[in-house]
Amino acid sequence: MKILMVEDEFALADTLRDRLTQEKYEVDIASDGITGHDKAMTGAYDIVIMDGMLPGKDGTEIIYEMRKAGVTTPVLMLTARSDLMDKLKGLDAGADDYMTKPFEVEELLARLRALIRRNYGQEENILTVGNLSLDRKNSSLRNTESNQTISLAGKEFKILEYFMDNPGKALTREQISERIWGHEDNVEYNNVEVYVSFIRKKLKFLKTNVCIRAVRGVGYRLDVEAADDKKATAQN
Ligand code: CA
Repeated sequence: MKILMVEDEFALADTLRDRLTQEKYEVDIASDGITGHDKAMTGAYDIVIMDGMLPGKDGTEIIYEMRKAGVTTPVLMLTARSDLMDKLKGLDAGADDYMTKPFEVEELLARLRALIRRNYGQEENILTVGNLSLDRKNSSLRNTESNQTISLAGKEFKILEYFMDNPGKALTREQISERIWGHEDNVEYNNVEVYVSFIRKKLKFLKTNVCIRAVRGVGYRLDVEAADDKKATAQN
């Protein structure tokens, strides 16, 4: 699970990042409203934790613009404002949940888990597609029929997790690269192919019915092979 935290209080952002990282979330921090807006608009995150008062652009404004542009990433809003009008403004803009500072970190974790369950409909630590299940806690990949298990290295895990969060959907190399390496380097585009080939080898080893197909001119798509497809592949 990749979390974008838009928060201008450095100490709070650092503390939260440490705790979230312990819980195996991946955290990206934006410390002003403009950067937060740009990152949130990519739709490359699973959850956004959004502060209300931010330099550059207000949290509610960012949420409003995300929703207007069709970005559906669930947002948990955090703010020092406790009055009802501000809470309503945040929720009206499209925030999914709201917490007032100061708060207990454990409560934040519970709210996050609830948001994940509501939006992704499965236990946050286990992702399942076809007969393939990915354990987010220990980066292991399992064929649920044969129980064969294999572990994934860091980038392989992140890329496969992204695919398994978006089964049947074509993901561009740019989206993958952005998600795994961030904006800055175009150099990494080629690496996507390298990692996809590593992942394919592991899928093959597990003899799973899940595969990563190339989508010409676009990128890649994670698919569950129909039983017939599999026979056809075996004959080829
Ligand atoms: Ca603030």
